[in-house]
Amino acid sequence: MGKALVLFAGGTLAMEVGRDGALVSDQKPEKVLELLPDVSTIAECDFTMVSNLDSSNMQTEHWVQLATIIYHNLHEYDGFVILHGTDTMAYTASALSFALLGIGKPVVLTGAQKPVTDLSTDAVNNFVNAVKVSQMDMAEVCIVFGTQILRGNRATKQSDIQLDAFRSPMLHPLGEIDLEPHLSGLQQKRHQRDMKFVPTFDNHVLVFQLFPGMEPALLLQAVETDCQGVVLLGFGAGNVPHVERPVDEAIKSIVERGIPVLVTTQCSSRQGSMRAYQAGFDAVQAGAVSTRDMTDEAAITKLMWVLSQTQEVHYVKRMMEKPMCGEMGTS
Ligand code: ASP
Repeated sequence: MGKALVLFAGGTLAMEVGRDGALVSDQKPEKVLELLPDVSTIAECDFTMVSNLDSSNMQTEHWVQLATIIYHNLHEYDGFVILHGTDTMAYTASALSFALLGIGKPVVLTGAQKPVTDLSTDAVNNFVNAVKVSQMDMAEVCIVFGTQILRGNRATKQSDIQLDAFRSPMLHPLGEIDLEPHLSGLQQKRHQRDMKFVPTFDNHVLVFQLFPGMEPALLLQAVETDCQGVVLLGFGAGNVPHVERPVDEAIKSIVERGIPVLVTTQCSSRQGSMRAYQAGFDAVQAGAVSTRDMTDEAAITKLMWVLSQTQEVHYVKRMMEKPMCGEMGTS
């Protein structure tokens, strides 16, 4: 029988209806754990409390705490399960994939769209499946939710109502769940090689969505306050306005100040071919770096992680363009 460490971070799974009629994280975690089924026939589980939060309140300090607990318990357990809200689960999963680079065991994030106290809760299935996956032949930070097993740094929350809350637009699922979880073979297999533990993130990142008519001066103003890196949500293949109200000129002056600028896209299926159109090409000439097929969550957390190691634009570019843990395609 294998062993799993279950880390409790909160989310809808553990919520109840509060005074205002809205879901709130007031439930005692011990009560929540009592409502989850006994999974001792799957794995011997220990539980540890990290936080009980709506995941919109998760902070980089929580990512560091989760990564540190996992790292220090790596040899004690066969796999790890994190009970987490869905809203920022893809951010936490991405952040952990970088902090625990090359981990040789599964780290499985799961949660629920309905509290465990609700008669039609999805918490029970998700929890049981997550514990099962934590014992499988996988060495990845993944999300197990509904009928899917997804690479964490390729996943994004797609729905606040469907039981399959996540999708992985640029990578096939690592597995599916019908009566039981099945892996597709795409996942990294368990191993005993050394991993790299780098649990640091720089919070001074600005994420800025472009729209037709946006005043570039606002972007220039926004980087004034202790900004170390920018992610622009551009259009299509990574295009930005370069005729009227030119954003490429703003990019040039930001990069010249030593602040790296990444460009992602507002499309969910993405390749980030910024050289396909002059509107992207000029941004590259101005110093912008394409986030290629990374999810926004992966691009933002990777930039936060990279900036905690170097703020040199040239090295940031090099690290951002290098696939680290399956977060981007290799072509
Ligand atoms: N707001 C909740 C959270 O992210 C949503 C959920 O868990 O599904 O904590």
